[in-house]
Amino acid sequence: MDKCSFCGRSRKDTNLLIAGVSGHICDSCIEQAHGILEEEFKKKSSFDMKEVKLLKPAEIKKFLDQYVIGQDQAKKYLSVAVYNHYKRLTQPSADEVEIEKSNIVLVGETGTGKTLLARTIARMLHVPFTIVDATVLTEAGYVGEDIESILTRLLQAADYNVEAAQKGIVFIDEIDKIARKGDNPSITRDVSGEGVQQGLLKLLEGAVVNVPPQGGRKHPDQKMIAVDTKNVLFICGGAFDGIERKIGQRLNTRVVGYSASQQRDAVDPTNLLQYISPQDLKSFGLIPEIIGRLPILTYLNPLDRSTLRLILTEPKNSIVRQYKKLFEMDKIELTFTEEVLEYIVDKAVEFKLGARGLRSICETIMMDYMFESPGKHKGKLEITLDLAKGKLEKANIGLLKAG
Ligand code: ADP
Repeated sequence: MDKCSFCGRSRKDTNLLIAGVSGHICDSCIEQAHGILEEEFKKKSSFDMKEVKLLKPAEIKKFLDQYVIGQDQAKKYLSVAVYNHYKRLTQPSADEVEIEKSNIVLVGETGTGKTLLARTIARMLHVPFTIVDATVLTEAGYVGEDIESILTRLLQAADYNVEAAQKGIVFIDEIDKIARKGDNPSITRDVSGEGVQQGLLKLLEGAVVNVPPQGGRKHPDQKMIAVDTKNVLFICGGAFDGIERKIGQRLNTRVVGYSASQQRDAVDPTNLLQYISPQDLKSFGLIPEIIGRLPILTYLNPLDRSTLRLILTEPKNSIVRQYKKLFEMDKIELTFTEEVLEYIVDKAVEFKLGARGLRSICETIMMDYMFESPGKHKGKLEITLDLAKGKLEKANIGLLKAG
């Protein structure tokens, strides 16, 4: 009589018995085997560092170039920092020269590509990546999120694969918002400023932290997961509004300190951010210990008109390419005239919306077409200046303006 070659059940005890070349397998053994397979695959999840072929800094920058326009200085710093960081992971622990962590601070106006850079790096490396907003963090025990919540997010991004999470990247946005308010330590507690900075210190440097797997407040019977942040790369971003003034002040006092005969270095007053130094972060209100743990400091340029124009069409997943793809799926060949592209850029500049504005303007122009075209248009759709203007004016464009 036919029997399952794995569990020995006879045909009548199974729901299904499948015959192979020299044996049989029953439905329950198939299911069990399937479970084992899934477990195994999960272990070898997509975040396997050994599979990450670490590119050289120049190659990393080239990869970034495909997605991010301009910002050469930031790309260069980021490429080197990431290269060194992951090289550090492969360093034997007995080595005498211990390479320090290269956490990074990106300073630049909002919408200039800070998050995009961090996200693109993580995509390239296939490591878990999470974005946290520093403004929601508060000192433990106060209303807001504990610092550990950062690691909860990273764990979630890694599907709770602790090993992978420990090699992940965390982007902390709006780091400038936890600057100390005012120069003097205040009498009232600064729970969302200096307190948070103190809390962040150990994460940035590397520590084993007990993390509540589901986030939220710690409570005694919750099972914690220990996460070591020694190899987590932290990239911090912030607009640091008004930091140019501090940079300007520093540059001026420095010039006074020099002997008068010494040639004054030419300073470009239109873009002071390029001279940013750790001292300026200190004047802004970051505590020296934090600055010390964020050794790589670089800046992003404000986006000028020509950069915005490039952002519209050049990146590998540029807005225009995305729309074309969407329409292509409905078998419609979508094109924009050059005039329209220029018009979109003009509006983004006019509304001071930066690169984010490009998308909302395009969305306003395209909404009706996306609604009506599937099924209606066939073949080709060209967006001309008149069409675009009409849509934008009808949509009460004033409402798109930045506040
Ligand atoms: P930030 O983090 O600096 O506030 P983001 O990186 O979130 O800004 O940028 C917002 C959006 O603007 C991005 O999703 C991207 O589409 C676009 N963008 C901004 N800067 C660039 C750039 N330099 N190259 C390409 N796209 C950009």
